[in-house]
Formats: sequence, structure tokens, C-alpha cells
Amino acid sequence: MSAIECRLFINGEWVEPGGGEWTGVLNPATGEVIGRAACATGEQVDRAVAAARAAFPTWAALPARERGLLLERARQEVARRQEEIARLITLENGKPLKDARGEVAWTMELLRFYAAEAERVAGSTVPGYQANRRSIVIRQPVGVVAAIAPWNFPVDLLSWKLAPALAAGCTVVAKPAPNTPLAAAAFIDCFRQAGFPPGVVNFVCGGAELGEALVSHPGVDKVSFTGSTEVGRRVMTAAASHLAKVTLELGGHAPVIICEDADLDRAIPYTVRRSFSHAGQICHSINHILVHRSIAEPFIDRFVAAARKLRVGNGLDVPDADLGPLATPAVLRKVEEHVADAIEKGATVLLGGHRLADPPYDRGWFYAPTVLTGITPDMRIAREETFGPVAPITVVRDDEEALSLANATPYGLVAYVFTRDLDRAFRLSERLEAGTIGVNNCSTVQLNAPYGGWKQSGLGVELASEGIQEYLRLKHVAIELRTA
Ligand code: NAD
Repeated sequence: MSAIECRLFINGEWVEPGGGEWTGVLNPATGEVIGRAACATGEQVDRAVAAARAAFPTWAALPARERGLLLERARQEVARRQEEIARLITLENGKPLKDARGEVAWTMELLRFYAAEAERVAGSTVPGYQANRRSIVIRQPVGVVAAIAPWNFPVDLLSWKLAPALAAGCTVVAKPAPNTPLAAAAFIDCFRQAGFPPGVVNFVCGGAELGEALVSHPGVDKVSFTGSTEVGRRVMTAAASHLAKVTLELGGHAPVIICEDADLDRAIPYTVRRSFSHAGQICHSINHILVHRSIAEPFIDRFVAAARKLRVGNGLDVPDADLGPLATPAVLRKVEEHVADAIEKGATVLLGGHRLADPPYDRGWFYAPTVLTGITPDMRIAREETFGPVAPITVVRDDEEALSLANATPYGLVAYVFTRDLDRAFRLSERLEAGTIGVNNCSTVQLNAPYGGWKQSGLGVELASEGIQEYLRLKHVAIELRTA
């Protein structure tokens, strides 16, 4: 397989698109075509699902320890190819190379974690209802998993699904986002190189229509989807047609509350990074800063000063840039619309507020780090996910106002609080409506803690031992012994 051409991986082989159709892959930093991806046909989706079904009984029956050893071998292949994969991520997604390297490092961690977790899946015994009855509860793999990923972490987020699914004994048909298939294909190839049996891991490329065909396929037992809330709703509806289980990791609108006793030396670097890193295209990026009025002035001054220093760059030319371009023209358009809407409704621009159109940014989809104040609830930016390098700031009177604004969106993925007061940290954490809370930090994701959205940010969890449960089903075995 040529690294920059992405074919389809079905039943252990890289194959050409059935209809002969390819789609170009663009570099967001330059707008240039850097590769192409095969467009799978509906018949190829059928073949991929059939291959996964055929491989399932043998894979599920393999001792968990052996599945874990194979996952460890896949991790070693990713380690061997990490620089190649990272460069592909930067090329097609735009994030600076240092962040792409970080993404691959996390992917390896995922594989390490679930390689070990495979053999820790345990059932239970419960007291039988009669003296000669024994009852055991076992956990078995769900079956064929459709794993659908977005473009913002094209490799890492596939590993969030593949690693636990494969460890649990499921087989997989994976689909990347249409604009970021190249690094994902190289990642999938690591499973082939690691010696996974044909059909255990399959990979099809395409857009919404193909995704829908995969999710609605009656041969799929479980759908694990990461993407927008809007598409998540459609995925759930399609999966309902054959009652496939679903895990949905959806959009976010993360608030951060800066209390008047916050340690700004800590709050500033964390909030700047979590607002602008990966150009704000992370589900747990900060979408609303709620700062107490008594500390608003120093916070805003220091925040703007730090944001002004951020380096924007083409991620291959400037590997340690703080942020790169937006991933697609559509993402850029949405950011422009949100900022224009906020300005029209009275927001003040303290920094940025425009596209970067001069060289070296003129050919790509770069947007300046932007800070807005004077946010009001009627602005789109106050309740919709912007997914761009924009930090809207609202000055609040007290914790009650901060909480009511923080909880006023349909989302509930992540929220952050900065305070030196332990009581307040507990009380605010408990009342914030989100699946993850960062107190005095904005870097909350860790492998051994579950990650999942509340409200319209998702259903189910990923990561940790809870994450593997999403790929298992329970079975009660009631055994009657001969009467003694
Ligand atoms: P998206 O919802 O547009 O697409 C996600 C994936 O779904 C892509 O592979 C796409 O091709 C596919 N798809 C589109 N329509 C489909 C359909 N009808 N049926 C099946 N599949 C379909 O999202 P995106 O723009 O690629 O990614 C950005 C979104 O992802 C943001 O909302 C972000 O918050 C969210 N996200 C969430 C998490 C999380 O863990 N909660 C992590 C990363 C990104």
C-alpha cells in the first residue's frame, strides 16, 4: 500500500474501490491535494461486514490473553511507524507535528492499556435460588462493531474503539472521516502487520451515505460513533432499525469557571491551551470562559497577552506551532459565522476576529486566535459548539450565575473550575452537568477513568475498564446439580 493512497481493507487484504471511485485528500495548511482515498461501495460494506461476521466466532473464542498479545504486537507496529503516521495526520488534518506525535503516542497507550485489560474481563457468581442451583454471570463479546471516527483525532479516536472492541473479542469494520483517511489507513495496516487474522479488522472509506449504510447494516451488532451531536442522532436512529447497541461520543460546549480565588498562574496557561490548542477543534476545547467580576480584569489582560503570543503555523514547517489551520473550509466558515453573529449582537473583539489571509497562511484555512467579551445568551457562540480558535468570555457576579450559564447548553461533555477553595471545588464539580470535570486543570483525559458525555454529548463511555464493557454482553448461566 502506498502511504499516501488509501484503499479499503476487507478480509485481510487491501483492495481497490468496487466502483473505481476515489476522493482527493487535501492539506488544510495549503489547500493542495496530498493523496486519495478509495470510496467503498455498498457491496463492499456488505463484504466487510460479512468478513467480520465470519471471523467473529474464532476471534471471540481465542483466549483473552492471546488477543491481548496481538494488541501488544499492533502497538509495537504503531511504535515502529509512529513518525510516518504522525506526518500523515499533520498533512491531512493540519495539527502541528508535535501534537500529531502526541496523538500517536496516546494511540499506543490505548493499545497498551487494552492489551492488558483483555484478560481482566471478569464475570460473577450469584447465589442460586435452590440448594442444588449454581448461577454464574459471564461476559461475552457483542459481535461485529461498526467503529466510526471524526477527523479531529483520526487515529487516536479509532484506537479508542478498536482497542477495547478487539480486546473484548469483537470484530470490527472501521470508517474514518472522508477528509482524514490516510493516517487511519496506516494505523489499520499495523493490525495486518501484527498478524491479526483476516476479517477481524476491516476498514472502509466514504462519507455520510456510506456511514449510514454501515450503521444500518443488519450484520452490525454494535455501533461505536464519535462525531457531532446532529449526526449522532441519525446514527442512533439508523442503529435502532435492527436494535444494535450504541456508544455515542458527541459534541461539547465546555465551560470554565474562574472563581475570584483562582490561581491565575495556573489558570492562564491551562485555559489558553485548552481554548486554542488544535485550533479549538477538540470536543473538550473551552467554549465559554465564565470569570468572576472581581478577577475579570487581570484574568482577561493576561489571557489576551498569552493568546497574542501563540504561534500559528503549517504543522510540518513549524512542528511545535501552538495551532495550525482549521481542518476544512466548512469548519472555517462556521467559525466565521459564529464570530460574525457574536459581533452583530454586541460582542467586543479583544484579539483576532478574522481569517489569516496573508502569506504564509493565504492558501490554507487559518483563523487568528480570537478573544471575545460581552457574550450574551442569544449568541450562537454561547450555546453551539464553535470548533475553532475562539475564546468567548463572560464576566459573572457569583458562582450561581456561573453555574446557570455553564449548564445552559444542551451539551455536557467536560467542564472546568479554577478555585483554591476545596469546598467550592467539590460543590461546583457536583453541580456542573458534565461527564468530566477538571479542577485547577484542563487536561482531564486519562486511560483508567471513563470518558463520556452527559445530556446531548453522548451515550455510554469510552476508556477505562468501563469502556470495554460497552463491547460485552451479559449471560446468566443457571446450573442445576444432581440432588446430593
Ligand atoms: P461528523 O458527525 O460530521 O462526522 C463524524 C463521522 O461520522 C465521520 O466519519 C462521518 O463521515 C460520519 N458520518 C456522517 N454522517 C453519517 C451518518 N448519517 N451515518 C453514519 N456516519 C456518518 O463529525 P466531524 O465533523 O467529523 O467531527 C467533529 C465533531 O466530533 C464535533 O462535534 C466534536 O465535538 C465531535 N467529537 C466528539 C468527541 C467525544 O469524545 N465526545 C471527540 C472528538 C470529536
